Amino acid sequence: MQTVRQQMTALLSQQVCSARDLSQRLSIQEKEVYSHLSHISRSVVSRRQRLVIVPSRCLACGYVFKERKRLTRPSRCPRCRGERIEEPKYQVV
Ligand SMILES: [Zn+2]
Repeated sequence: MQTVRQQMTALLSQQVCSARDLSQRLSIQEKEVYSHLSHISRSVVSRRQRLVIVPSRCLACGYVFKERKRLTRPSRCPRCRGERIEEPKYQVV
């Protein structure tokens, strides 16, 4: 029986997932997803892998949150102040 974190790592090795995708696939809350992701980002390093964050994007002006290091979705766009922000996605490569 795999732990949730192992299942999440396996999913992220196969495909790009958002926090919402992961919470639905694994039947856990989104906030739990983020705590697992931060552990995964450290644990995969020993296998010479890394957690890649596909940055969020503002749906109004197209601004990309490239420099953002946090895992969660930003709440507001610094360029246009829009609040319709696409979720970041994650992948283990
Ligand atoms: Zn914007």
